[in-house]
Amino acid sequence: MRALVYRGHKRIELENVPDARVPAPDGALVRTTSFAICGSDLHGYHGPVNEERIGSTMGHEAIGEVVEVGPEVRSVRPGDHVAVSAVVGCGRCENCQALLTARCANSETRVLNLGQAEAIAVPAADSSLLPIPDGVTDEQAVLLTDILPTGYKGVRGAGIQPGGTVAVVGAGPVGQMALETSFLFGPSKVFAIDQVGHRLEEAERLGAIPIDASQVDPVEAVLDQTGGKGCQHVIEAAGPQATVRIAFGVLAHGGTLSQVGATTDPEMTVNLMALFGKDLTYRVGLVSPQYAWPELVPLLQEGKIHPERVFTHHLPMSDGPRGYEIFDKRDDGVIKVMLDPTR
Ligand code: NAD
Ligand code: ZN
Repeated sequence: MRALVYRGHKRIELENVPDARVPAPDGALVRTTSFAICGSDLHGYHGPVNEERIGSTMGHEAIGEVVEVGPEVRSVRPGDHVAVSAVVGCGRCENCQALLTARCANSETRVLNLGQAEAIAVPAADSSLLPIPDGVTDEQAVLLTDILPTGYKGVRGAGIQPGGTVAVVGAGPVGQMALETSFLFGPSKVFAIDQVGHRLEEAERLGAIPIDASQVDPVEAVLDQTGGKGCQHVIEAAGPQATVRIAFGVLAHGGTLSQVGATTDPEMTVNLMALFGKDLTYRVGLVSPQYAWPELVPLLQEGKIHPERVFTHHLPMSDGPRGYEIFDKRDDGVIKVMLDPTR
């Protein structure tokens, strides 16, 4: 089967790899019909070469059709149209049973890095697959695999109160999900901080106040517009040290910073004494998409959110390497790239 394979720094190749199979008695084989590229795929793409990952399949945001299931699978059957969770657990431990797959007590692998291929071997199918509900489009279903739950996790974690002030740092795909869902909680002001013009314009269309970090000091700008107080609810949706610093900088005393951006640099330093003086709450972690599905599906079905607006590019899988390049450069008006595995 064909897959997009990691070959080193900014090198993704379309290659033939061994066919996927049902991985275990509780697993399933899913033939993909659409998948997207995630900001998490970019860490490996533009970062230092990861020797261990060379030759491995990219991606973790796919939907498709169940082709075959193991004998222990109960909730899906061949022919079902499903979204594949980006994060998988054993499906049996207490945390997985509580839909918190990112906290699985038994599995080492959390993110299912197999998604950008014609088929996926899905472990713990009953826990990892969402039969796509009526009233949810394919584009929306792709977002349910990862970034919509991720942005929503950021928002939930920030505990937005009606009338509260919000800042979302990073207006990429994940930031867009956080921006859109933050409005569900009745904030008085939502700031969107980024340095890419078209992403800030998209945030503005949602009702957010854009802050262009390439033009102004974003911390000063937010303090200026909040009477020097900063924001009570901050969502970090980018990951680099610079944006984590901005996130702490715009956080009000007594506020909550909820980070979903992945900081890959282990050398990150923070001034704990300065944070101590703010009496703040800090949350950070990997998403459990399953945990958010029961809340997000009705919002999609009722038309209360339209996150599919982020798909700016639809390309055939054979153009996957170009899709990575466009997404990484953040040019051509790109927010999110969808790939079609049938082409
Ligand atoms: P992205 O890279 O497209 O978005 C990041 C955005 O931050 C970009 O728009 C970029 O312009 C902006 N940015 C970067 N540096 C900046 C700076 N110094 N000042 C202002 N803006 C800056 O990626 P994405 O798909 O939106 O993903 C965002 C992050 O979320 C990634 O780190 C990804 O790994 C992470 N992620 C985490 C989870 C989770 O489970 N917690 C799930 C999915 C993605
Ligand atoms: Zn992802």
